Amino acid sequence: MNISIIGSGYVGLVSGACFAELGNKVICVDNDSKKIASLKKGIMPIYEPGLKDLVKTNIKMKRLKFTTSTKEAVAASKVIFISVNTPTLGNGEVDLTDVENVARHIAVNMTGYRLIVEKSTVPVETGEKIKHAISTYVKRKVKFDIASNPEFLREGQAINDFMHPDRVVIGVESKQAKDILVSLYQPLHATLVVTDIKSAELIKHASNSFLATKISFINAIANICDIVGADVVEVTKGMGLDKRIGRAFLDAGIGYGGSCFPKDVDAFIHIAEKIGYNFELLKAVRGINRQQINLFLNKIKDTLWVIKDKTIGILGLSFKPNTDDIRNAPAIEIIKSLLAEDAKLRVFDPQAMKKTKAALSLGNCRRPISAALKFCRDAYDTSKGCDCLLIITEWDEFKELDFGKIKKLLKRPIIIDGRNIYEPLKMQKLGFTYIGTGTKGALKQDE
Ligand code: NAD
Repeated sequence: MNISIIGSGYVGLVSGACFAELGNKVICVDNDSKKIASLKKGIMPIYEPGLKDLVKTNIKMKRLKFTTSTKEAVAASKVIFISVNTPTLGNGEVDLTDVENVARHIAVNMTGYRLIVEKSTVPVETGEKIKHAISTYVKRKVKFDIASNPEFLREGQAINDFMHPDRVVIGVESKQAKDILVSLYQPLHATLVVTDIKSAELIKHASNSFLATKISFINAIANICDIVGADVVEVTKGMGLDKRIGRAFLDAGIGYGGSCFPKDVDAFIHIAEKIGYNFELLKAVRGINRQQINLFLNKIKDTLWVIKDKTIGILGLSFKPNTDDIRNAPAIEIIKSLLAEDAKLRVFDPQAMKKTKAALSLGNCRRPISAALKFCRDAYDTSKGCDCLLIITEWDEFKELDFGKIKKLLKRPIIIDGRNIYEPLKMQKLGFTYIGTGTKGALKQDE
């Protein structure tokens, strides 16, 4: 099938490369000409395991190409996916400027039947708005369909998620649109959920909000564990074995970040409000998530007393492992807070150093950035002379460190773990003061 993907970011680029790998002819479009120029040279704008090779192979097989021209893509493709950004404004309202812009460009360039598919995460009823925009701007009398096909891939394992999805959601209002999308996804042999467009749009927001709810729920339990001296890891084990609950997304820590959960929770609260429903549950989910970082910062202050002039090591900058994505990453907020209190920071991440350097706006920092913030080579370099070490992202390489060496390098053997990646008793036996999230009980029992 000839298809186009408009918006070649995390979702568009992965989807485009995967559709090409399945044998389709794919054109990936982006209005960022630098990004397209790099992609044409085989340079990836993002870190995603396996993506570079997949793109390279499919360019070579002439199944994948890149352009800045929506016109070229619309002319050549029967199916056009929209996968541009859908950020939220300050009040939680989704900014659909890019979606509307793409819809207009598609409309004026359509030369025959086209199926336009929303892959971006959008508020319910956006499909109707896209349909209206296209009907308004279309130049020739051509037929078209709108469909919703929300994306559920996770950064860090995006290719595997795309190729082996739990389900593929297809929201359609015509048999032609359904047949095209069913046949496009047929090679994946996935469970298909074929529904109307509004239900498909809601499935995405409902799914992300539910996952965020699980995270905030277990974080609330972790906070109770911290107060009473119980161990949230044990509580999670006991809860997760119940098949009705399940173990996934019950890892206590400093809360969710990234480009999706915070934005999608905000958006869903706003959408609900707009249609007259007060989504109190989600407001609490958001509140708990915001509180987690403050509680973590309090743990640092409780441990070090005064932050000023303390050297603090930070392991992990990306919002989760196996990605270089730092959008809404807890590490960035923690770095800014600690620098504002005149700490000296030593930081390391296996992939996100470049993006962190570019993104940090340090307006509230009183020292020159070079003196206050040092980007280190690895976990050992980071630990040198630190008053404590923070674990912010649970990269696998941080789980298997030489702790004897780390202990020698630290000024004080203190680890504050925002992701509970270590066994509290083991760390204590190794001579660390180890502070987890909701795992205080395990320490007390052994004392
Ligand atoms: P992104 O910022 O990485 O990519 C979006 C791309 O669209 C950018 O490269 C941008 O330059 C391009 N773009 C914007 N306006 C354009 C236009 N008018 N014409 C051509 N290109 C344009 O975003 P993303 O993370 O890929 O997310 C895209 C959508 O998918 C969002 O709605 C997001 O919520 C959703 N989503 C993201 C993920 C994820 O893990 N990142 C997962 C599922 C769904």
